Amino acid sequence: MPTARGSCAAAIDPSAPYGRQPAVLTVEVVRCVECGREKDSGERGWLTVLAHSRALRINYCPECMTDIVARATVLPDDGDED
Ligand SMILES: [Zn+2]
Repeated sequence: MPTARGSCAAAIDPSAPYGRQPAVLTVEVVRCVECGREKDSGERGWLTVLAHSRALRINYCPECMTDIVARATVLPDDGDED
């Protein structure tokens, strides 16, 4: 069995991925902007708001959305303009 000493042929594997990309999933993660909770797959009742730049989306989970709605409905009515 011949010794391959001095041969560096197998030093670099050209088939190896050079700048291997991180495992970034294309699945968009929906996260509540209020509490930071991630949306479970199949969970319903989330509200998605498109921001000024259409790339940015603001999401609210049902809990926070209920809280926001509750806050909105109990506005102090000291501003009677009529
Ligand atoms: Zn939330």
